[in-house]
This record gives sequence, structure tokens and C-alpha cells, in this order.
Amino acid sequence: MVNVYADNQTYPGPLGETVAGLPLVDHHVHGALRAAVDRPTFESLITEGPKPHSEGTAFDSQVGFAIRRWCAPLLGLQPHATADEYWARRCELGEEAVNRRLLGAAGTGTYLIETGYLGDAVLTPEEHAEAARAAAREVVRLETVAEGLLGKVDSGRAFVAEYPTVLEEASRAAVGTKSIIAYRAGFDVDPARPEDAEVVKAVDRLLGSAPGCVRVDDPVVLRYLLWCGVDRGLPLQLHSGYGDPDLDLHRANPLLLMPWLRQVEPTGVPVMLLHNYPYHREAGYLAQMFDNVYFDVGLGLFYSGSQSAQIVAESLEVAPFTKQLYSSDAWGPSELHLLGALLWRRGIARVVGRWVQEGEWALHDAERVLNLIGHENARRVYRL
Ligand SMILES: [Zn+2]
Repeated sequence: MVNVYADNQTYPGPLGETVAGLPLVDHHVHGALRAAVDRPTFESLITEGPKPHSEGTAFDSQVGFAIRRWCAPLLGLQPHATADEYWARRCELGEEAVNRRLLGAAGTGTYLIETGYLGDAVLTPEEHAEAARAAAREVVRLETVAEGLLGKVDSGRAFVAEYPTVLEEASRAAVGTKSIIAYRAGFDVDPARPEDAEVVKAVDRLLGSAPGCVRVDDPVVLRYLLWCGVDRGLPLQLHSGYGDPDLDLHRANPLLLMPWLRQVEPTGVPVMLLHNYPYHREAGYLAQMFDNVYFDVGLGLFYSGSQSAQIVAESLEVAPFTKQLYSSDAWGPSELHLLGALLWRRGIARVVGRWVQEGEWALHDAERVLNLIGHENARRVYRL
């Protein structure tokens, strides 16, 4: 793990050196691309939109400019190289070399990799760790485990009887579980644990509508999986806010989880609200209100590029410093793994560095907070 961007121009101010040396734990991330893709595919991977826009290029955005500024030099180009120059050089090097250069430069020490989405297109946790010269642990998606089991059982009764054991086995080596209920049903579902009979009926309906290949989008089944995640006892990650266009964004506002959080808090199971943008302030509020709620502002960081310091600043408003974690939420192009780390480091160095310079914070307190958010909170909560 070498952070090549360790100079004091990249991370200016009194915290530059501390920030550059942080052995980040990226607590929500996916693997880097396994093989080269064509340019339209690459451009579709640097936006959350469902398809490329009909006009212009995805490089004409904050993330595109950040790629040309920060990734180009790592591929041997000048900073701000054009999109065409960047693309030509990237193709020339090939995916393996690009991954080694960009992941190697991110300086992330440990990746907690969620393997539930298009797993064949990206590196496995072991391969990703090797390419990044870092450590990797796995996080298991509740819905993916359920969909695997639905391909094997023929009744709702069998599903309910087997799912907890199958989840236990699938997550034996994992450090956490994850739910995407926000995108399949929304957070405004009934917060209560559903009765087994209700789940059996809902699964029978799913199996009847699409035997063999089932996408779990039934709110009763999704709630059941969520509660099985709570029972499993590992930190439970919830995708929140910005992300897939599957569902209306306002239904992925984490404030809608409050009735459910009131029920889960007594279990002590950590609830990890992922990325949250544009509801990161709401997530910070929940982290203050609930003892077991943690959050991050990944994803929003690389998409907002040179504006990301503002999101970092907003993440440091009301939440206790022991309740925030670092993540990139990168999936695919290793540009995103690099930018997640680099822009977070730059953002926090600028924001907190200014408070130190203005006498609001003591330097040693600032350094302590950087270490908490950068890696110590994750090590403590996930027991790494
Ligand atoms: Zn993700």
C-alpha cells in the first residue's frame, strides 16, 4: 500500500501528512473491473444514470474532470489530459495494468467488498486485494443469498425453513451483511418482523410468477430478509439515498427508517447507512439519535469531484465522530476506487485543516478524528 499522492500540494494544510498516511478501511466497495470494456460501457460506469445521455460525453462532469486531473498522471499522461487521450492510453495499458496503477495509488489498506452485484464482471475479493496490494474481507448481500436459494426450493415453507441456515453458511467468513430494500421496496415499509405464514405466502407467490429465476422485490420477503440480517448479528449495511434508479429517490431517505431503527436499537446490531447522498445530513442526524447507527458519504464523493469537500464538511455537522466511516462505493473502473480515497483525503484535509488553522480545533484532536473516520471506527465495529 503506497500512497503516491502524498505531496503537500495534493493534501495541503496542517493535516496533509496525517491524511496521506491514513491506512483507510473502505467499508463499502465492490471489485475492480475484471476485463477491458468499450468506451460507451466505461462511460456508463462513471454515471449512476441507467443509460448514456444522448448528448455529449460522461467525461464532461465532475467525475470525468477528476479522472482527467488525478488518474491521468498515474497512467503517464499530463494532468487534465483530454478524454480522448485518456481513453487511448487506458486501452493501450489494459485493465490489469490500469488496476495495478490506480488501486496501488489509492493507499487503501483494507477493502470490505460487497460481492452481490454482477460478481462475474469484477475481481473477487482475493483478486482485488492482490491487485491493490491491500487486505480484503467480504460483505454478503441478503437478497443475493435469497435469490440463490429461491432457484433451489419449490415452496415458501422450504424457503423460510432454510434461509437462516443458508445465510449463516454464506456469511461465515464475512464481516457484514447488506440489504438493498431501499431500491426494491423503499424504506417506508412496515417496520415489523413479518409472520412466517405471511412470508411463506409471499414466497409462494414469487415462485409461482417466475419459477427458477426470481428477483426478490416483494416488500414482505424483503422485510423478512432484513430481520434475518438482524438475527445474523453482523453489522448490517443498508444502501441509502443516491444509487440505482430502480425506485423513487425520496423513498430511500433514511429518515423513513426511524420506526424500524427504534425496534432494532435494543438488539445492539450495528446499522451502517451507506453513502446517503443527498440525505447525508439526515444520516448524520440518525447517527446522533441512535446508538447503533453509523454512516458514510461514499459515492457522493467521486461524483462531486472538486465539490466533494463540501459533502465532507456537511458529514461533520451533528454526527458523533465515532459514528462515521470512510467508503468509496466504487464498482468497476478502478478510477473510482482511487478517486473515492483521494477526494475524501483532500476534502477532510481542507475542511478540518481550516478549523485547526483558525484555532477551532486542536491539531491532536483533528488527527484523532481523521484516524477514527479513516479506519479505527471500521476496525472496531466490524471487529477487523
Ligand atoms: Zn455499493
